[in-house]
Amino acid sequence: MNCDRCGADAVMHAAYSGAHLCESHFRESVERRVRRRVREDDLLPDDATPEDPERWVIGLSGGKDSVVLATILDETFAEDPRVEMVALSIHEGIEGYRDESLAACEELTADLEMRHEVVGYEDELGVRMDDVVEDDPENMAACAYCGVFRRDLLETYAEDLGADKLLTGHNLDDEAQTALMNFLEGDVAQMAKHFDASIGPFPDRRESEHFVPRAKPLRDVPEKEVALYCHLRDLPSHMAECPHASEAYRGEIQQLLLDMEERHPGVRHSIMAGYEELSGVLAGEYREDGDNSPDLSPCERCGSKTARNVCRKCELVAAIDTG
Ligand code: SF4
Ligand SMILES: [Zn+2]
Ligand SMILES: [Zn+2]
Repeated sequence: MNCDRCGADAVMHAAYSGAHLCESHFRESVERRVRRRVREDDLLPDDATPEDPERWVIGLSGGKDSVVLATILDETFAEDPRVEMVALSIHEGIEGYRDESLAACEELTADLEMRHEVVGYEDELGVRMDDVVEDDPENMAACAYCGVFRRDLLETYAEDLGADKLLTGHNLDDEAQTALMNFLEGDVAQMAKHFDASIGPFPDRRESEHFVPRAKPLRDVPEKEVALYCHLRDLPSHMAECPHASEAYRGEIQQLLLDMEERHPGVRHSIMAGYEELSGVLAGEYREDGDNSPDLSPCERCGSKTARNVCRKCELVAAIDTG
């Protein structure tokens, strides 16, 4: 097959659009989708100036998604004095997995000359995921603990680093899975929150004073294309899966969506288009009810913002310590 644009050998065919693209046109198309999303979400506000730049903290795991995101953003904005970027990596304490992916993070940020910060569960919380999995005091999946810890550290450090926004490398498949999971769980409140928390265009969001706003500029690009882009550019990334990965339900949804996509190309895009619109409408409804921003106050133990006296993270850490 040949590239639709220039006739060179095609490296990919996208069934959802019918496009065949050569390496250079494929790369360009991925980059264009990220830049378009940055524009459409209005990530860079008009009031950012070289004197008062916008600071983006990029969650960098060393997996293909965050590596591709950091690379494209760096190439787009490295020369723009209105933007400062810092990469933030989290070390969960998972033997043989996180060390290698951190090596990829270090190589990448050295190449890009991007500031890079690493924070670990062990130093910050006194726990390692390998031990948490052994003890499992709450009888939960590993990812249920890990997700609470990661969110807390990302949030705390993004704030410490003075972030205006926290950017993560979720791709189209990740987002379509999350959307479908919210539908299947009937979690309408979560759909409403999703808009203000990470998927709405910034001018349309009601931002919470409690949290650093998030965005996902890679979310128009399917996972397979992110992987191909990473491979073609030979970017340093770590492909292995976490040995504790246990999101069984998400795995089922992922397979379901891949099967659907094969038979009905474009289904991930249409799920997301509908979901974005719906979550925007819901966000408006819920704001009127005042449900979108519950009263939060500092956790008695750690100071993180929480709707209760002691936050979920401190509760889990305490359970692990006594478990
Ligand atoms: S797969 Fe689960 S346990 Fe492993 S790093 Fe991710 S969230 Fe943590
Ligand atoms: Zn071409
Ligand atoms: Zn706490």
